[in-house]
This record gives sequence, structure tokens and C-alpha cells, in this order.
Amino acid sequence: MKIAVTGGKGGTGKSTIATALAMELSKKNKVLLVDADVDCPNDNIILSINLKKVKDVETMIPKIDKKKCIKCGKCSQICKEKAIVHVKGEFPVLIPEQCTGCRACKIACPVGAISEEKQKIGEIFIGKKENITLISGKMKPGIEESSLIVNDVKKYIKQRKEDYDYMIIDTAAGTHCPVIAALMNSELGIAITEPTPLGNHDLILILKLMKKLGVKSKIVLNRSDISNKNKIIQTSKKFNSKIIAEIPYDKKIQKAYSKGEPIKHKSIKEIVKNLK
Ligand code: SF4
Ligand code: SF4
Repeated sequence: MKIAVTGGKGGTGKSTIATALAMELSKKNKVLLVDADVDCPNDNIILSINLKKVKDVETMIPKIDKKKCIKCGKCSQICKEKAIVHVKGEFPVLIPEQCTGCRACKIACPVGAISEEKQKIGEIFIGKKENITLISGKMKPGIEESSLIVNDVKKYIKQRKEDYDYMIIDTAAGTHCPVIAALMNSELGIAITEPTPLGNHDLILILKLMKKLGVKSKIVLNRSDISNKNKIIQTSKKFNSKIIAEIPYDKKIQKAYSKGEPIKHKSIKEIVKNLK
């Protein structure tokens, strides 16, 4: 079963719950945990797993031949990422960190002055702890488009997923491209939220996104007792998305979190019971 642990808002405890869920499921199952929060992956820290690099993630980057270039600026005009700057009468200048490797500039160049080179944009790591295998993507600092790394992580796990009973994908926060890439084809998306106006606002966004992608959604309410949860209940009803567990604000949980340890709480068993 492929489960995405997600949340519109950062800092709601997504990685903490994804790792705790992996620990609980791994008592009786083989679990593949995928850290797709490639901007700042941290599941390995929470689970104390040593990672080893398995591959670089590379993308195409254009190389401009100044001997052929006629300084027309068409490559700059077509680049949606603003990765090529062109000033009239000058050679175009490439900003590699902005480039997503879409090849539009190469196609647009009228004189064939653009060829391809490779650029490293990230890395993929693997680690193991008992029944959990962790695959973690990491983006190179300065790179703009993290969905390219998430997609490469997904390609890497494609051949391995049959070996596991559960695949848990810990997505980035938000509803942008890398989150969409991570959520695609999941059988269940667990939205982690908290009972605050911002938590509810971002919960609505992630539930809307999952509905659009055709991903069945359920909700876990973290720090459930810090405020009134009526708004979250209303949202849950509106999207027909059940609140399957509530995790209270508990000093022991916060202590485990601050030490970078997986949390142990009866609500994690509740999540497992309600996966299907
Ligand atoms: S490959 Fe795409 S993103 Fe990169 S510079 Fe060319 S047009 Fe821009
Ligand atoms: S489109 Fe080709 S010829 Fe025109 S500025 Fe870009 S590289 Fe030079």
C-alpha cells in the first residue's frame, strides 16, 4: 500500500508522524520510507539511520557556442524559468541554478548554437534499520526546482516497491510541484494539521489538491488540544475526509521531537487501524 504523509503547512509534525508510522508498521511488515522533502530531508536523523549515497541526480543544462551564436535572444525569450539573460547586442548569459533542463532554448535557437551538458542537481541516499528501508532525496543548495529530484527518487524506487508491504512517502509541505510529484498515484494521503486558523487554511488547500489528483485523504490532528478544533471538523466533513487520529500536545512527545527521536503514542496505532 502506498501512503503519502503530507500537510499544507510546514512545522505540523509531518516527518515525526511519517517516521512513527513507519516504526509501527515495521513491527509486522516490510516498510519502504521515502523522504521526498528534498529541500531539508530529516527522516534519517529522527530514525538514527546512516545513509549511503546511491546516485547523483542530473539534468540537462544548455551550453552556448559563442562561435555560432548570433545574439538574437530567442533562447532568453522562450525560457519560462528566466534562466537565460540576454541584453541586446550581447551573448546570452545562463543562470544554471534556475534551469530545469526543459530544452526549449535548444529547440528555439535558429542556428543550432545550443548543445547539452549535464548538471548535478541532487543526490539519492539509502539506509536501513530493521524492517525499514529509507530512501532519501537531497537537493543541491541553490537549485530552484525540487520536483526534478522527487521524480528521480520515484524512478529509483519504482523497481524496488514490490519488495515492501507498505511504502510511506514523506512529502514536502505546501501544494507546489514537488508535493504534487510525491502525491501522484498514492492510495492514501494523510494530511497532518493542527487546530489553528493557519492549519485549517492550509488543510483546505492540501485536501483540494488531493481531490484533484484523485488521492483518497484522511486527517491526523496534531497538537489537537492547543485550540478549538471545530473548524478542522467542519473542513473534514466538507471534504468527506475522516479525522483518524488526534495527537495531544504532550511534553513527552515534544521532548522526543526535540531530541530527534520517533514519537511513541497510542494515536499512531489509531492511524494504522484506519489506513484502509
Ligand atoms: S533548458 Fe529550459 S529552463 Fe534551461 S535554460 Fe533552456 S529553456 Fe531555460
Ligand atoms: S537563440 Fe541561439 S543564437 Fe540566439 S542568442 Fe540564444 S544561443 Fe544565441
